[in-house]
Amino acid sequence: MNNNKPTPMMLQYLDTKKKHPDSILFFRLGDFYEMFFDDAILASKELEIALTKRDAGFAQKAPMCGIPYHVAHTYISKLINKGYKVTICDQVEDPKLAKGLVKRQVTKIITPGTFTDSDFLKSDENNYLMAVYLKKYDMYIAYTDFSTGELYYTYRTFLDEESLFSSVRDEIYRIMPSEILVNEDIDKTLNKFLSNNFFITNYKNDDIVNIDIGKLVCENLTDLGQKNFNEKKLSDNIAIKTLLDYLFKTQKIHLNHINNFNHYDYYKNLVLDENSKRTLELLKGLNTNNKKGSLLEILDKCKTSMGSRLLKKWLSSPLTNIDRIEDRLNHIEDFNSDLLVTEDIKDRLKNIYDIERLSLKISNKTLNPKEINSIKETINLSLEIKKLLGKNNNNLKNLSVKIENLVFISEKIDQIIIDDPPAIIEDERVIKKGYSLELDELFSAKEEGKDWILNFEKKEKEKTGIKNLRIKYNKILGYFIEVTKSNISQIPSDYIRKQTLVGSERYFSVELKEMESKLLVSKDEALRLQSKILSELKNFLLENIIKFQNLSKIISAIDVLVSLSEVSRRNNYKRPLLNKEGLIDIKKGRHPIVEKNYKDELFVPNDTYLDLDKNLIHIITGPNMAGKSTYMRQVALITIMAHIGSFVPCEYANISVLDRIFTRIGASDNLAMGQSTFMVEMKEVANIIDNASKNSLLILDEVGRGTSTYDGLSIAYAILEYIATNLKAKTLFATHYHELCSLEEKYPSISNLSIAVKKEEEDIIFLRKIINGPSNHSYGIDVAKLAGIDDFIIKRAWDILNSLENNKGKNKLNKNFKIDNFEQKSIFDIKKDKFIEKVKNIDINNLSPMDAFKMLNEIIEKSKEI
Ligand code: ADP
Repeated sequence: MNNNKPTPMMLQYLDTKKKHPDSILFFRLGDFYEMFFDDAILASKELEIALTKRDAGFAQKAPMCGIPYHVAHTYISKLINKGYKVTICDQVEDPKLAKGLVKRQVTKIITPGTFTDSDFLKSDENNYLMAVYLKKYDMYIAYTDFSTGELYYTYRTFLDEESLFSSVRDEIYRIMPSEILVNEDIDKTLNKFLSNNFFITNYKNDDIVNIDIGKLVCENLTDLGQKNFNEKKLSDNIAIKTLLDYLFKTQKIHLNHINNFNHYDYYKNLVLDENSKRTLELLKGLNTNNKKGSLLEILDKCKTSMGSRLLKKWLSSPLTNIDRIEDRLNHIEDFNSDLLVTEDIKDRLKNIYDIERLSLKISNKTLNPKEINSIKETINLSLEIKKLLGKNNNNLKNLSVKIENLVFISEKIDQIIIDDPPAIIEDERVIKKGYSLELDELFSAKEEGKDWILNFEKKEKEKTGIKNLRIKYNKILGYFIEVTKSNISQIPSDYIRKQTLVGSERYFSVELKEMESKLLVSKDEALRLQSKILSELKNFLLENIIKFQNLSKIISAIDVLVSLSEVSRRNNYKRPLLNKEGLIDIKKGRHPIVEKNYKDELFVPNDTYLDLDKNLIHIITGPNMAGKSTYMRQVALITIMAHIGSFVPCEYANISVLDRIFTRIGASDNLAMGQSTFMVEMKEVANIIDNASKNSLLILDEVGRGTSTYDGLSIAYAILEYIATNLKAKTLFATHYHELCSLEEKYPSISNLSIAVKKEEEDIIFLRKIINGPSNHSYGIDVAKLAGIDDFIIKRAWDILNSLENNKGKNKLNKNFKIDNFEQKSIFDIKKDKFIEKVKNIDINNLSPMDAFKMLNEIIEKSKEI
């Protein structure tokens, strides 16, 4: 058929597609979700499924591909992972009852930020949807994890665009959302940066204006959610407005699990920009780009995914409130001092279910019986933990008090649901015997029916004399009597033939069919009744949703504290003291990540002393590979760990509460922004100078390296002077410009440190020890030799260095730079010298005859090359 007009079904499809142009439309046809046209071409490629064609009326060969509906979630997760949105259009009436075309409707739009399928989400990471609204110098941010219902928001106004943009970037990198909703009229460069690096959904200003937030909140939030929303006067918060609108438009369900609106002010935390987080390997290893090799990996011994997610939040937002930090430290200390209780708690935590991620299912009542039972088990375990914590007379008692006793919920679940229920309700029992008389009667009718069938089979065998007569069941025929071909002569006349197979015949009898309808009725009734009881239970759970959310919160906190306590004991960390006087005093500090690589040899610990006076700035010199960068990172990491309330790797630490830590370590081109290494470096320094205060810690590694020596030196010199006289921020500054060491004499707040090395004959040995005073040499050529650079080049480098040092002041590094006496050597000569050297060094006494023979052979072969 091709009359150039779309078929009615195709019209329905095209109409839906028109409204959802930016997503792949899954269009339900019977047992399949079908995709058409460009969607089909794209999806068949991305999902590696066959592309076929369908007559669409107007287009005889409409490209089409499809997937069975019951496995759709696997394919949806693939598409989401690849950065697409998927719109689900379902049949919303029973096709058997439909008059004409089946009614279809979009039931859900799945996007990276609203994806909640726990089978495919990483359990130890939140999946955030973020809304950013920027207007002039104002920044509104709100973000939520839709699977758990947690929502956070902030608002801030800035003095200029530069600071606004850098804060937005830092905040986005801190949160790492899977999707960002952003107003379409933001700055073009920022928009480009966002769309290059994140999944962006632009919001039109008109659409934002048209959101009726009052109606949305009133119709979709619980009473508690509405109360909290109104009390915090959030109807003017554009980011929250956009976020809730988007959730509602895409998910098309009530938002019963969004109950708390948590305001935060990230300037009240220790601020770490993206660069510092990355170079310090807080959450991801630099080489692995995942948790491996990061501080998070070392600290995360959490037993629940809820705990792992919370620890990540703690690390991303270290505290600056001493009381809150001390509170965490007190708990860790108490866990450390009661190992038996801690071990018992750990055992309970191991079996606790991720009830935080059940929030959405509690909210939209899609919990299955297995999940409901895991809520029961989690409540019971939480009560055991409550008891264990309550035994203590210290801070752990406070944790115990915070666990609400939800036994009334677990008991109710226990009354209703059997102990090991299936995930899906079909014919089997899910509801306990004794809970509903009506249900028990239906189940006994089912049982009696089964007995009746067994008896019926026996009776018919006797009546007909057919020994192998069987009563069987299948979905198409229902119950039937099966008789092999050889016995059909004995069939009574009241049997009605229904089906002929190769070796047998199948029959009905009136009596059997009557029982079958009775059985069917009780089966349907049982299913209906079980679903009804479950649905009442789900309503009850929904009424208590906030209690589960609170329980998840306290359990995750306990898990993180227990994990930090375990890590502190295993790794011999110490409780830090905290001060507000600007002092950082660390005795025998270690790098928490690098020390893990040392098994037999020991990591060399080092002291640090920084204050606001004579020890404000340390200039650190020493050869490459000496350990300067490790030392500086270790100071930053110990400081951050103290701010999250963790014990720290050292013998003693007294850490000042800081506002920000800035690091400028290692150079990397930011190609996405089209900037060179040196440009990036200078931008980072500019950002530090603009935003650091005397409460900040600056870690600057080889600033000025990316340009010519004298340029770089001059910039580094000027920056250090500025820090010493204006910023007055604590600073560790590693450099190869030994000239900078003279600053010590000029400014009392600057002092020189170096990392000790020992020179033994031709070789240098790294001692890894920080000592007072500058390093004498930079040992660059020694390190080059150690790295295996050819002796000939090394020798020549020494000549050049001597010549340069003798000519200091005359032959500056400019275009007239000239070094005399270059002894031209051909590659042939170099190879020959090397060969002779190698032969000279053969230790003939230590060679077996076989090895000597092999060696001789090699010498002959090599000599042919020369
Ligand atoms: P630099 O910055 O001076 O070039 P790094 O800090 O990169 O040197 O250190 C080089 C290597 O030395 C590191 O990879 C680490 O394995 C080792 N190292 C650094 N500090 C120590 C230490 N205190 N104890 C033991 N090994 C260390």
